[in-house]
Amino acid sequence: MVSCIRARCSRNLVRVGCQGLYRSARVLVPITVAAIAVALGARRAGADSTTPRPAALSGVVKRAEAPKPINYDKLTQEAVDLLSKYVRINTTNPPGNELPAAELLREKFLSDGIPATIWQPQPGRGIFAARLHGTGRHNRAIVLLSHMDVVPANPKEWQVPPFSGEVKDGELWGRGALDDKGPGVIELMAMLAIKRAGILLDRDILFIATGDEEEGGRNGAGWLVDHEADVFADAGYLLNEGGAIERRPNGRVFFAVSVAEKTPLWLRLTATGPAGHGAVPPAETSVTRLLRALDHLGAYRPQIRIIDRVRDYFKAIAQLDGGPPEFLDLRTALQDGEYARKFLAVPRQNALVRDTLAITVLNGSAKTNVIPASASAEIDCRLLPGEDPQHVVRNIRKAIGDDDIKIEVLLNFPAVSSPNKSLLMDAIDHLAESEGGAPVVPTMIAGFTDSHYFRQKKLIAYGFIPIEVSPAAERGIHGIDERIPVRELGAGIRRMVQVLEYAGGYRDGAR
Ligand SMILES: [Zn+2]
Repeated sequence: MVSCIRARCSRNLVRVGCQGLYRSARVLVPITVAAIAVALGARRAGADSTTPRPAALSGVVKRAEAPKPINYDKLTQEAVDLLSKYVRINTTNPPGNELPAAELLREKFLSDGIPATIWQPQPGRGIFAARLHGTGRHNRAIVLLSHMDVVPANPKEWQVPPFSGEVKDGELWGRGALDDKGPGVIELMAMLAIKRAGILLDRDILFIATGDEEEGGRNGAGWLVDHEADVFADAGYLLNEGGAIERRPNGRVFFAVSVAEKTPLWLRLTATGPAGHGAVPPAETSVTRLLRALDHLGAYRPQIRIIDRVRDYFKAIAQLDGGPPEFLDLRTALQDGEYARKFLAVPRQNALVRDTLAITVLNGSAKTNVIPASASAEIDCRLLPGEDPQHVVRNIRKAIGDDDIKIEVLLNFPAVSSPNKSLLMDAIDHLAESEGGAPVVPTMIAGFTDSHYFRQKKLIAYGFIPIEVSPAAERGIHGIDERIPVRELGAGIRRMVQVLEYAGGYRDGAR
């Protein structure tokens, strides 16, 4: 099996017997995770494209049959059925319970003969991976990443039950339709389309669906990176959520590809003081100290800093829209105090040019008549790439002006970004070119995704799902009435196939 997939096949030549791999994969299903992981796993040293073809197999190549045409209408219907089922599995995090969702994905891949496995980092939690083997000509695999968990949804606020997966007015409704089960289905169906059509790419495609993304990913991507890094050790590139095809108000379309993310610095501030009865309060308590500190923090404004990618992003937007002229040179424009005030009043713009602080969780007494010995607040602080978290904590300490308040770091990791140029970006460029020459704009997102775990392992990771997301649809993400147009689900599969064909050497022009 290994020598078969190792064999170097040109685009239209395929080694007889390659299908054996897929049959073997079916047989692997019931055996241990360890054995499946070997089938899934990265290729080891000495197994790159220079490995000589085994003598016993040489001379048995034949011209492959031409790939079968892909019926996208049929695939779209299949994707709708799968996504409906996927949305119906409630993976609200906490607690996540992604295992049944992982089983649904495994069943789908295995029925098409693609090896797949599941890990359980905690009881009921799941992480899933499946690998579509290519010719092995290039040993840098591409990871298609998504997450199976979703944020909570309150059925009372929704027009349709959020875990129904109902199709209404040409859209598939439900929590996760866009974030991130829909994108996962697009990635999965693109792999099945390539396999079924008999398209042989020159590198492997690895599908990974994590859990726990919405709670920071420690029981998902973080666990995989720490415990099973071999699974993606051969991967060089990764596509994930974080960017999409966007349409400007003037109708012009661009491909937003996230190459950088802000990084979280989640903090807990704790004040202490005398505990006692609420009827006889001392002048200063843990709560009054905390409130004073938070008041100071609320007035604190971190410095403006425009990183090159953000400057370039605004410039590209201005070029698309024919303005505003200030976006063409944001650094100069923001030196004008009046313009800066206007610009920074838009939260999304403000978040792209400075660190931000949001006071989110408050804890004091559990009873009205009890003065607590301690009171605490949690702060969701987000840092621009290149910021030193210790320096930020020092500034926050200075701003609150009370050295007795304890500051703990709850979550932080280094901000890592990916280069603007790569084989994967070339593939996205070619897709954009084929769609009327839409510009590809590298962006930074104010949030963070699982991409950082993989960027730390040196993968070039981009946030880009090739579907058009309208501003109205975007509001459904973590909001109410989340849904994906069926048309975009189908178009997303077609575009994803195209990106993989370019990156996998099947369509010319990607290199
Ligand atoms: Zn997400």
